[in-house]
Amino acid sequence: PTSKPDISREKSAELYEKAKAYFPGGVNSPVRAFKSVYGTPLFIQKGDGCRIWDADGNGFIDFCCSWGPLILGHNHPHVREKVTETMQNGMSFGAPTALENELAELILKHNKYIQKLRFVSSGTEAVMSAIRLARGYTKRDKILKFEGCYHGHVDSLLVKAGSGLVTFGETSSAGVPKSFADETIVVPLNDREALKLAFEEFKDQIAAVIIEPVPANNGLLLQEKEFLKYLREICTVNKALLIFDEVISGFRLGFEGASGFYQIKPDIITYGKIIGGGLPVGAYGSSAEIMSNISPEGSVYQAGTLSGNPVAMSAGIAQLSELAKPGFYEELNAKAAAFANAIQQYATEKGFKLKVFHVGSIFWFAFTDQESIRRADEIDASSMEKFKLFHRELLNRGIYIGPSGYEVGFVSSVHTKDDLEKAKLAIFESLDFVFKN
Ligand code: PMP
Repeated sequence: PTSKPDISREKSAELYEKAKAYFPGGVNSPVRAFKSVYGTPLFIQKGDGCRIWDADGNGFIDFCCSWGPLILGHNHPHVREKVTETMQNGMSFGAPTALENELAELILKHNKYIQKLRFVSSGTEAVMSAIRLARGYTKRDKILKFEGCYHGHVDSLLVKAGSGLVTFGETSSAGVPKSFADETIVVPLNDREALKLAFEEFKDQIAAVIIEPVPANNGLLLQEKEFLKYLREICTVNKALLIFDEVISGFRLGFEGASGFYQIKPDIITYGKIIGGGLPVGAYGSSAEIMSNISPEGSVYQAGTLSGNPVAMSAGIAQLSELAKPGFYEELNAKAAAFANAIQQYATEKGFKLKVFHVGSIFWFAFTDQESIRRADEIDASSMEKFKLFHRELLNRGIYIGPSGYEVGFVSSVHTKDDLEKAKLAIFESLDFVFKN
C-alpha cells in the first residue's frame, strides 16, 4: 500500500518497453533500471533549475542531479550560453583548442594539490589512466583498493573482498580475468591494521592505493581524518602512490575537493562529474614530475579522440567559473547541512530509525540507529526494504532521489529555501508512512 496514489508512469512504461528491445535491461547504465525500487524507471524529458519532468509530465524536485555533476542545477543559463556559443564554431577537431587551456588554468589556479592534468571523457577513464600512470611510474603492479569504494568499471577495480582481513580481490563482474583481480588487494575502510598488514604482506609490490576520500557510492562512509592521514603516511613510507578518486568529491566539498577539505595531499587525483558541467569530462592530475610520464612526454600511453572536446570544455569552464566565486561553497554547504539536520531532527523526535549522514552538499539516508557507518560491512542490507517504500512515497510527492538505498543525494546551488522547505515536508510525510507501515 502507498499513502498517496501512485504517479502515472504510462508514457515511461511505453518508452521502457521500447528501450528493452534496444538496450540490455532497457538502459545504458544499470542503476537507471530501478531494479531495487518500485515500478518502471522514469524517462526524463526536461530539467530546469532544481526540477525535472518525466515523459508523463510529473514534476520533481531533483536531488540526484545527474548523480552529482549538476551542482548548479539543470540547464544553468551560463553553462547553456557558453556551450551554445562554442557550438557555433563546430563540435570537435581532435586538435588542441584554447578552451582546454582555459579550463586547465581555472582548475590549477585554484587547486594547490595538482600541477598538471590530462582531460579524458569519463570518471572511469580518469581512474583507469591514473592506475596505469601509477604502475608506470613506480614500476610495480599491485594496487590496493577498499571494500565499499567504487571507481568506475575499470577491470582491475571490479573486485570485491574475499574472506579475510587482507585479500586478493575476487572479481565482481563476469568478464574480468582472475589474473587481473590477483593484482588487486582489497581491505576494509577505516581499518589501519588491515592496511598495515597489506603493506607487510606485499612489501615493495604496491604501486598505488586508491580510495574515494569521501566514499559515496555505497552509502556515505565518512572516514576518520586520522585514518586518511595514516593512509597518506603509510603510502609515503612504502613508496606507493596515493590516488584520491575525487570523481564525486572533487569540486563538490569545495573547489579543492576532499583533498582541500582534509588538507591531505594525494599523489594523483581523479575527477569527473562536476568538472564537465553535465557533459562527458573526466581528468586526472598530479605533480608535473609524475605527469611527465604520460605520453607523448613519457612512456605511459593514454589518448582520446574526444579528450578535451571544446563543447565539453565550455560547459566545464562556465560551471567552474561559478564555483570559484568567493562564498559559493560556504552558502551551498550551510544550506545542505541545515536541510540534512532538519530531517535528522524530525526523525529523532519521532523515534524513527534513520540517520542522515552528510558532508558538504552530499547526504545519505540510512535506515539505522548506528551513530556512524564507516565500512561497507556495517550497512544492514535488510534496511533497504524501508528505502524502497521511502523512494516510492517520495516520487509520489514530487521528490526525485537516486533509485537505490546505497546512493547518496546532492543539494545544488539552485535549490532555494522554499524548494528545500517543500522537500522537507514531503520527506517528513514519507517517513511517517515508512515507519508506520
Ligand atoms: N569514481 C567514482 C568515485 C565515481 O563515483 C564514479 C561514478 N559514479 C566513477 C569513478 C566512474 O565515473 P563514470 O561513471 O563517469 O565513468
